Amino acid sequence: MTLTKSDLDNRRIVSGMRVTGRIHLGNYHGALKNWIKLQHEYECYFFAADIHALTTNYEHSAGTAALSRLMIRDWIAAGLDPKLCKIFIQSGVPQHAELHLLLSMITPLSWLERVPTYKDQQEKLDDRDLATYGFLGYPLLQSADILLYKPRYVPVGEDQVSHVELTREVARRFNFMFGREVDFQEKAHAVLAKINKKQAKLFSEYLNRYQQQGDLQALQQGKELLTQVAANLSVTDKERLTGYLEGRGRIILPEPEVLLTKESKFPGLDGQKMSKSYNNTIALTEAPESVAAKIKKMPTDPARIKRTDPGDPEKCPVWSLHKIYSDSQVLDWANNGCRSAGIGCLECKAPLIDSIIAEQKPMIAREKELERDPELLQHIIAEATDAARDTAARTLTEVKIAMGIADA
Ligand code: SF4
Repeated sequence: MTLTKSDLDNRRIVSGMRVTGRIHLGNYHGALKNWIKLQHEYECYFFAADIHALTTNYEHSAGTAALSRLMIRDWIAAGLDPKLCKIFIQSGVPQHAELHLLLSMITPLSWLERVPTYKDQQEKLDDRDLATYGFLGYPLLQSADILLYKPRYVPVGEDQVSHVELTREVARRFNFMFGREVDFQEKAHAVLAKINKKQAKLFSEYLNRYQQQGDLQALQQGKELLTQVAANLSVTDKERLTGYLEGRGRIILPEPEVLLTKESKFPGLDGQKMSKSYNNTIALTEAPESVAAKIKKMPTDPARIKRTDPGDPEKCPVWSLHKIYSDSQVLDWANNGCRSAGIGCLECKAPLIDSIIAEQKPMIAREKELERDPELLQHIIAEATDAARDTAARTLTEVKIAMGIADA
């Protein structure tokens, strides 16, 4: 789709994080560090996705409100600046739930069933009953989360690209169904009647393939066909058919683009990906003595039974952390020392412990400040929630008018 000037001026991004607990170093290096960078380059809306937490954790949801606030406190401690971005809690902006409901009226069930994470998560979380309406619809709730703010970009990792794609499809369908001038379809058909029947039939085929299956090649073919027939049409008629093809009589919900975030599988204490479900985490603001104790207990290359046994860093989870935290000099020292049995594992772990503690030091200091002033955190969240609600309410009003359930 051709981007207009206002599209290009739009520097807004939206992203959320499911409320699952306190932030750990895996969350920090995986998503949060990227948000901290993006806040200097874009207009950012970041939210704690507490309703999303309910989709998989509805049976153990007590305390979610307090956890959402603590999660946001961690974000700010890590470096998110409330002056640069809006940081709020999803359920504080009820328009998320309302737009989700309205979009559910036009979203085919099959679109949700084919989202790759639907079956994947059901299999992974087999200890929970996820045969629920809320779980099936959570990618659509994500679409509502995004579309409410009309962002240009959504920063996501590879595994979430299909959710942004669904969002684009939903927006396209919404714009196609509700975004046109009165009698737009009749007017477009009247223009089609002016071109020869074979070309009109071909145009309808391209339109269906693009509108119903998102087939971009069909969109291109349709545009080429319009260029061929343009000589016999007025500029207005050609514009009308182009709008008809693109499904944009008037775009109410712009399609966002993916801002791909490099995947980072931050290693946990056991070498698997750091995750609360594997119980292998270091909290963002964990006390230094606890960090040291956890790293000292980390498993190493099983071949190093005795101090004199040489090891292979590639078989050691500590090495994976070294590669993130240590400079080339330390890496060379650890690598050579391990392979030659020149250093012991505790010795090898010492500079890693120092680096992690040094990274956490300013975060712990900021966290302490916020802890001393809980009203400040409440104020930050309330202010951002008000601002987010204003933006969301404007979009929702447009959506309701377009759908005919509110007066213009
Ligand atoms: S020396 Fe270091 S890299 Fe080698 S096994 Fe021990 S902790 Fe791992």
